[in-house]
Amino acid sequence: MEFAAQTIELTALSGEPVKVHLVSTGAVTVKTKFRETKRTGLLAMIAFMLDSKFTEWMPIWVMIIEHPDGVFVIDTGENANVNDRGYFRSSGIFANWFDTTQFKFKVAREEEIDRQLRSLHIPVERIKAVLLTHLHLDHADGLRHFPRTPVIVNKAEWQRPFGDLPKLYPSWFKPVLAELKEKYDVFDHAYYVTQAKDIVLVQTPGHTWHHCSVILATRECHIFFGADICYEQRQITNDKYSGTNASHQMAMDTYAKVRSFCSRQKTVFIPSHEAAAAGRLKNLQYV
Ligand SMILES: [Zn+2]
Repeated sequence: MEFAAQTIELTALSGEPVKVHLVSTGAVTVKTKFRETKRTGLLAMIAFMLDSKFTEWMPIWVMIIEHPDGVFVIDTGENANVNDRGYFRSSGIFANWFDTTQFKFKVAREEEIDRQLRSLHIPVERIKAVLLTHLHLDHADGLRHFPRTPVIVNKAEWQRPFGDLPKLYPSWFKPVLAELKEKYDVFDHAYYVTQAKDIVLVQTPGHTWHHCSVILATRECHIFFGADICYEQRQITNDKYSGTNASHQMAMDTYAKVRSFCSRQKTVFIPSHEAAAAGRLKNLQYV
């Protein structure tokens, strides 16, 4: 496996132990200007489509939280069928072209989330809920392994998705739609997943219109699973943006909020596709 799994043990706000695992469900590479460009909107799209260079292989992280209330799986990663010819054909001509030319995947069957959970000795029955940060394929393609688990999705993201491929969803997929009516620190739209309010879904838009992150509060620090807010933590601190945002303005606002949050709390920040995030989790290296 290209990206080694990482596990750390922390203390929940209740004083009980909480375990956090980061596992990669394969690898992905994207056009370099897809990951970062000075342009925005349509110009950014044209820039990365004309770009012939790909990035190094990047992980597709899934975060698993063994919490006193149960196990929570954040995103579901990719599946090995993504390598099949014709995987995207049902999604139409444009999606088929886009998804086979602008990025590439490398996923082995044993890297899929069900096998990773088995390696961690976590039976699917122990999983209280799957939380999806957004509906992109490399976050939702592992859904097939959770036919009987509640899957929580931001209602606003479900109602106005951006770049999702619904033809690839399992036929039974019917998420629990969360309304993000709470406020959490600087985030105006939040949803408390646990009674103790220590796992929170917060709206961090830009990449999609209602993209979410998941924040775990512990006695030691906060673990901030930022999904696709950015590709690398330094993009937030250096104000560098990806070429694929639904809204550049929203992405700028989200960056400012994440910077503000992290300046006041000890926070380990984990983007879905940054290899270095595993080391930061292991060493509790804060933003
Ligand atoms: Zn995405």
